[in-house]
Amino acid sequence: MIALRLAEIAAVVDGEVVGDADVVVDGPVVIDGREATAGSLFAAFVGEHVDGHEHAEQAGQRGAVAVLGSRPTGLPTVVVDDPRLALQRLAAHVVEQVRAAGGLTVVGITGSQGKTSTKDLLGAVLAQAAPTVATRGSFNNELGMPLTALRVETGTRYLVLELGARGRGHIAELAALVRPDVSLVLNVGQAHLGEFGSREAIAEAKGELVEALDADGTAVLNADDERVAAMAARTRGRVVTFGAQQAADVRVEELALDRLGRPSFALVTARSRVPVTLQLVGAHQALNAAAAAAAAVAAGLGVEEVGAALGQVASLSQWRMELSELPSGVTVLNDSYNANPESMRAALDALASIGADPAVRRTVAVLGEMRELGATSHDEHRGVGSHAAERGVDVVVVVGEAARGIHDGAGERGLLLADNAAATAWLAEHLTEGDAVLFKASRGARLDEVAASLQ
Ligand code: ATP
Ligand code: MG
Repeated sequence: MIALRLAEIAAVVDGEVVGDADVVVDGPVVIDGREATAGSLFAAFVGEHVDGHEHAEQAGQRGAVAVLGSRPTGLPTVVVDDPRLALQRLAAHVVEQVRAAGGLTVVGITGSQGKTSTKDLLGAVLAQAAPTVATRGSFNNELGMPLTALRVETGTRYLVLELGARGRGHIAELAALVRPDVSLVLNVGQAHLGEFGSREAIAEAKGELVEALDADGTAVLNADDERVAAMAARTRGRVVTFGAQQAADVRVEELALDRLGRPSFALVTARSRVPVTLQLVGAHQALNAAAAAAAAVAAGLGVEEVGAALGQVASLSQWRMELSELPSGVTVLNDSYNANPESMRAALDALASIGADPAVRRTVAVLGEMRELGATSHDEHRGVGSHAAERGVDVVVVVGEAARGIHDGAGERGLLLADNAAATAWLAEHLTEGDAVLFKASRGARLDEVAASLQ
């Protein structure tokens, strides 16, 4: 974080300093005492099971110089009523300071799927041009977003934020803190349909990101998704679109996948046509790359430089379409980070394209439950099963009773197993050289553990 005296921090968050108000925080803001380093500010929360204030001493031993909390501690402490709210206010202040000191561009990314993939692509592209801070993993909520924003320093040029929506008004609140210059909306799918009730309600919430733009901001919208394209009417800013269709300002043309499912395409704008080959797997990553490219151009980069940088991104965050080839001759596509109907289909398409390689003799999809789907859950699972069958996946291993619908949809290619242990045992016995196997389910199913058993 930029250097701030405790007195300044207290003024920003409307708190009171207990201890030396002249102490300067110039290290990272942390919420885990073990992660404190020299100059850190330790934010203490009272949770259900843990009281952060009790870890203030430990944070101090690791270099923290002060605490932001709801009561005094052994370290100089800014005492506030609500430390979470205080952290948000502090983040807003820090972003404003760095912006005022010269040229910080803030990019917000939301959507039902592909936020992290696109954020990682964009973060990597921008980092090649200038100092960039981007969300780590999927740290995209009311705590993760401010903590990310607090990592900006004097000299940071780009701040890339993944924003998740849990309900209406949520994104508006987060966006108001950092006032994005570029707002990117990827798609409106069925993730969290259970909580929102309808896709229209999801679109309503995601569109808050473009409503947060000033007139000189840019909304980057998916031309291929009608609910996203319609958000053009909800912004004061300029609109740039991306997609596969002719009308998109930043287009993917001549898309082809190599034998491992890695996309090559032409990144096309009104003025240029840049060939790109990604090191990531799946046709959907080409569209995420186009989205990242449109946002990077909106942030001031040239299309040629963006195209070249996209090709250099070697991998995304853990367990997202991680491709590996085992010594046993088995190809593994580990996408066990999370799942919903759209991303299941995208991953199955990637597996099918890998299966088109003559060296791959059999494709196996190990699939588990997609959570939070609400009333249509069984039908959605069945739809994924039929998609797998239609794409010619040879064996569809369905893990857990909650995912039974996939088995129902997959027909005779389906195999229903009770749990991760059963899946691990089945794989140990049946996988052979020339197999390509995909792992995918919601995070809670922990299919990464089954995938790890192959290593
Ligand atoms: P979360 O809400 O869990 O943070 P996210 O929006 O950050 O998810 P990613 O982690 O990038 O999304 O991807 C989640 C899953 O969706 C992965 O399986 C990924 O391969 C798939 N996916 C990524 N982009 C798309 C897309 N444009 N269309 C469909 N599926 C996608
Ligand atoms: Mg994410």
